[in-house]
Amino acid sequence: MGPPGAGKGTQAKRLAERFDMDHLSSGDIFRAEKDSGSQLGRKLGEYMSAGQLVPDETVVEVMAGAITRCTAAGGLLLDGFPRTVPQASALDEQLDKAGKPLDAVVVMTAEDDLIVKRITGRRTCGKCGKIYHLTFMPPRKDNVCDACGSELTQRADDTEQVVRERLETYYKQTEPVIAYYRDRDGLKVIDVDGGGEADDVLAEMVVEFDKLRANC
Ligand code: AMP
Repeated sequence: MGPPGAGKGTQAKRLAERFDMDHLSSGDIFRAEKDSGSQLGRKLGEYMSAGQLVPDETVVEVMAGAITRCTAAGGLLLDGFPRTVPQASALDEQLDKAGKPLDAVVVMTAEDDLIVKRITGRRTCGKCGKIYHLTFMPPRKDNVCDACGSELTQRADDTEQVVRERLETYYKQTEPVIAYYRDRDGLKVIDVDGGGEADDVLAEMVVEFDKLRANC
């Protein structure tokens, strides 16, 4: 969990690879649906481009289906979901039924000004999803993905105005979810400063994940 631009997507991809986990990003799932041009996708796009949250019923339905299809040996890493308390309690219900409750919650933080700088410079490969930054992590060749050679694009909701909206939405609706998890006995909450270099942040998280694995 963490505000937009704290580094959730970047780190979740790397951690999932390293620990053989399924990585489910609600934002990626919604963007793919939007790009498919479906009726649901058009509706999702309206919320996303305004920096608002997609309604809980839709999120829970889509994510519950996606979670059911996860099979990786190392488990499941959720990125961007849940983002409201009702989503979190629907997730609890599903995981309890499956007999696989949450092991840990990772909370990433970063300063608003850094977030705005990070997000407005962010570019993503349209094909393989690799994430770059014009200043902090530029591709070797302008606008071309190092990994697969495809064109890099900017997300429609990565403008400063929409980022400020997304931050406000985060503080109002998603921060209470962190309190909801902190109050739970026996659930490990891992706090990470997402403001550092991506490799250092990853290293810190790997240490925590190793500890978790050792206790599972
Ligand atoms: P992200 O890529 O995680 O920043 O998500 C991009 C956008 O997708 C968000 O600004 C929301 O509009 C929507 N979205 C992603 N995950 C959720 C969620 N769990 N609940 C509601 N809306 C979401």
